Amino acid sequence: MKMTVMTDGKKIVFVSDFDGTITDEDFFTYTSNEYFDNNALKPWREYLAGKKTHFQALKEMFAQIRVPEESLEKLISEINVDSRIDDVFRLCNEKNIKIYICSAGNDYYIKKMIGKKLADYDITLVTNKGEYSQNNGLAMTAPLKSDKFYDKNIGISKFALVNSLKEDGDFVIFAGDGPPDFEPAKIADVVFARKMLLEECRKAGIKTEKFNNFADIYNYIREI
Ligand SMILES: [Mg+2]
Repeated sequence: MKMTVMTDGKKIVFVSDFDGTITDEDFFTYTSNEYFDNNALKPWREYLAGKKTHFQALKEMFAQIRVPEESLEKLISEINVDSRIDDVFRLCNEKNIKIYICSAGNDYYIKKMIGKKLADYDITLVTNKGEYSQNNGLAMTAPLKSDKFYDKNIGISKFALVNSLKEDGDFVIFAGDGPPDFEPAKIADVVFARKMLLEECRKAGIKTEKFNNFADIYNYIREI
């Protein structure tokens, strides 16, 4: 049966989280497993205990990575990126659907993983800045407080991005997996959720679409 999605003639946009959505697991998880002992994970425990913001904890964690850049690049190259993202991005281009990738992480590792695709498919990346040196670690910088997508807790407000697209009158398809994705999921028109975000959406009664990987998103967008 052909699916019918009512977009009321609105311009469609696709907003995707990066870590755990485009990749299998968070960059934070990969780096924690590889580089951080129990002591190094202290900033994260302080975040979980409500004593630090998400941004500050990530910043302190990532600054502790002090390996030669080649070994960090090797770790990044081993992170699994969904094999169907090109299909989805190409389809969005064909259908004139603007693509945004929005992340509470940073652009250092995102660009290393999919930098060429960002250019090839004209994708707008909204995230924190990241710069690596063996002396200073992976230094993360939030946008300026005056930036319209700035958020005190996670650096980048995914909610503010989706909200501004909605205010422009766009029909927003959103994909995510984690806690920072819950607020934007509440106001998106269509939500692809998995892992913790799926549980939260179910608890809150927010309708979600089947999402194991980007093949599900491809099948959905193909029909609209
Ligand atoms: Mg995520």
